[in-house]
Amino acid sequence: MLHLISKLCLLTSLSIGSIYAFEYKLEPKQVSENIWCFFGKLEMPTKENGGNMSNHCYIKGKNSYILVDSGPTYKFAQAAYKEMEKIAKLPVRVVLNTHEHDDHWLGNNFYKEKFNAKLIGVKLQDENYTEGEPSRMHHLLSHDILEGTHIVKLDEHITKPITKKFDGETIEFIPVGQGHSKFDVLMYMPQRKVMFAGDIVMNGRITSNREGLVIGQLKALNTIQQYDWNILIPGHGYDFSKSAIDESIQYFSLLKKRILKGVEEDVGLAGANKFVQMVEFKDKALFDLLNPRNVSRAYGELEFYEEE
Ligand SMILES: [Zn+2]
Repeated sequence: MLHLISKLCLLTSLSIGSIYAFEYKLEPKQVSENIWCFFGKLEMPTKENGGNMSNHCYIKGKNSYILVDSGPTYKFAQAAYKEMEKIAKLPVRVVLNTHEHDDHWLGNNFYKEKFNAKLIGVKLQDENYTEGEPSRMHHLLSHDILEGTHIVKLDEHITKPITKKFDGETIEFIPVGQGHSKFDVLMYMPQRKVMFAGDIVMNGRITSNREGLVIGQLKALNTIQQYDWNILIPGHGYDFSKSAIDESIQYFSLLKKRILKGVEEDVGLAGANKFVQMVEFKDKALFDLLNPRNVSRAYGELEFYEEE
């Protein structure tokens, strides 16, 4: 009898498990001759979207793929590769990470385990994330989604401007310091005229400047404009055309201008959000959640700012 009950319980839990088992539904979008990207939703990471809210791209080299960011989980990376295999059954030899935020790179260990891919990114990623210590995604996503995800160390750090060749493709690494995160790296393909901007550029949604700087962002955006690109892949957002950068420039320029006006009128941190209205962006995704935070953080940053 007991045996039967436990069997029944097992069956019930299995069926519940299978109803709720999470599956990513991914579709690569071709953005240029040899580049495909997976564009994430314009949302915060949730159990429902499995953390699929940032952008990840595959560059097809002669005999292998080179990746820019690897997604929020092992399962995401696995599902993305499954789709890319249909386009060309090539191994992934190199995975590049634009910055330390874990929605962009927790898929790394899939490529390490399957292909022994070389992982290249910023030093802070290794310093701030350790296997066994839950990161942001671990708190936001369910166990089921995170199954198989492990934090693995990088093989190489980008600390200074450097140009590298991978499987016939040239990539310039352009570190811009603290912009969106505490250390961001732009990746530029001069022959293809493609810029991977990481989270320095977002469109269709409000950025999260929780670790960033308004001045750093503007400097980094200015750096991007010095390069000759036709395609710009934002860290979040769907526009990868010549206008992909416009919203970010407008947002941070207006934010700076209005905060400085608020500082001049001494509205104080408590009064900043009432004084600084960013109405031009009110229809963008995540406005109500992130804009007030960005305004408060910007006020703290710019309160004692002096123009260089
Ligand atoms: Zn980020």
